[in-house]
Amino acid sequence: TFAPLSPGAFLTRAAQAFAGRTAIVDGDLSFTYAEFHRRVLQLTGLLDAAGVRPGDRVAALCANSHVMLELHSAIPLHGSVLVPLNTRLSVPEISYILKHSGATILFATQEFADTAAAVAGAAGIGWVLAGGGGDYEQRLADAPAPVLHEPRERGLLAINYTSGTTGRPKGVMYHHRGAYLQAVAMAYHSRLEPASNYLWTLPMFHCDGWCFTWAVTAAGGTHVCLRSIDTAEIWRLLRDGGVTHLSAAPTVLTMIAEDPAGAALERTVAVGTGGAPPSPALLSRMSRLGFEVTHLYGMTETFGPIMVNQWQPEWDGAGPDEISVLKARQGIGNIVARPARVVTPEGLDVPADGKTMGELVVSGNDVMLGYYRDPDATAAATVDGCLRTGDLAVMHPDGYVELRDRSKDVIISGGENIASVEVERVLDAHPDVVESAVVGRPDDRWGEVPVGYVTIRSGRDLSAAELIDFARTRLARFKVPKEIVFTDLPKTSTGKIQKNVLRSRVR
Ligand code: ATP
Ligand code: MG
Repeated sequence: TFAPLSPGAFLTRAAQAFAGRTAIVDGDLSFTYAEFHRRVLQLTGLLDAAGVRPGDRVAALCANSHVMLELHSAIPLHGSVLVPLNTRLSVPEISYILKHSGATILFATQEFADTAAAVAGAAGIGWVLAGGGGDYEQRLADAPAPVLHEPRERGLLAINYTSGTTGRPKGVMYHHRGAYLQAVAMAYHSRLEPASNYLWTLPMFHCDGWCFTWAVTAAGGTHVCLRSIDTAEIWRLLRDGGVTHLSAAPTVLTMIAEDPAGAALERTVAVGTGGAPPSPALLSRMSRLGFEVTHLYGMTETFGPIMVNQWQPEWDGAGPDEISVLKARQGIGNIVARPARVVTPEGLDVPADGKTMGELVVSGNDVMLGYYRDPDATAAATVDGCLRTGDLAVMHPDGYVELRDRSKDVIISGGENIASVEVERVLDAHPDVVESAVVGRPDDRWGEVPVGYVTIRSGRDLSAAELIDFARTRLARFKVPKEIVFTDLPKTSTGKIQKNVLRSRVR
């Protein structure tokens, strides 16, 4: 019989294979793999002593810290279910998730102690102030023997709530098998190894980040915790801290690239980016600075990235064209399953002609079990046993998928479909532009017309007319924005541009 795949196994192995290596650096603290493992085993005992049983939900309101890494490894071993909370949510939003998930205990780091006390009090559950030395260290030291339960592969491992852009956040149910395979895939696609120092520029609570909690451990690399996005500090760590890897949404990469402290790197750093389309202009800039960029696509419902356009040595000096379009191929976490498909509304495969758009649908090992306590939403997201991504793509003759846009971001003008991303790529190519977002504005004559929201570099005095002229020479007339608004762009906590907020401004 096969042993069930579960991400708890990575630390068990790393503690043998890499016992003396540094596993975690968190400010002044650092732990070897042997210490990390010991703390995780103690934590399973602490969970049990606190009355947490297999299947119980354990919520975490934690900064990117050793505590979050310890919870990620302890929970699969212990058999309980992790509910990571977005630390930027408001008290009512967190309360909703605590109630909906039925969490019985909350772990919080110092930064969020006040919020934790308020929400746990309102929910009538206990909470643990974790990390920060003192009491917590005593509780770990006093914890009884480790309490371990063999997981089931398809058993519930975690519930990650979506950002709730379109309504109440939905609880995505993850299983052990998907998390295990996703972590192996991320370790491979990110080229992680024992010498890697992975800088935590992604939030550990979000699906984009949470698999790296295991992937870095699987590889025996070092987790370098970063509690907030401070670009000057990131550049210091890139220069002097030995950082070899980071991953971030395109908007965060833009912040890093724009920081005045930035300069060409002395050695290459591997960067994974995704979550939103990165512009070729940004990717050129990153590669000129010495970053080797891998482009990833995925969603909360798929345990994070599932489609990958992986950096290749042949790209050296070739520029970023290869990575700018998502010439994605299936990641290794899901290769045994059915390949991703691009389908018509009737569920038929579109021709692989590189131009017919359809919806990307996926199935297999790294698709969620469903939305927790929400069978209607689960049914709406499923077709033919596949997950509907809500993203539009074309299939190329040689089998790669090219992502075009979210279906809800496509602008329909005079009966023509305009991928907002295509217009943004053009605006972003202007040397004075930092980033842009294009949305449709209702229009009596055309149905919708594109409007560009644009952030420009400080000190430049680009006019809307100049930028429109620039776009006119590069785009079909109907795709050219009818209006340009210079502004900062609203973003989600994971650094995604909130086009729904912009849309509501033009409506
Ligand atoms: P919500 O579902 O709550 O509205 P969300 O869809 O932004 O929020 P995530 O699951 O974090 O939440 O994001 C997944 C989506 O992000 C994908 O469906 C896709 O639209 C977009 N995305 C992810 N990676 C890429 C990428 N590399 N290029 C373009 N878009 C991407
Ligand atoms: Mg979504």
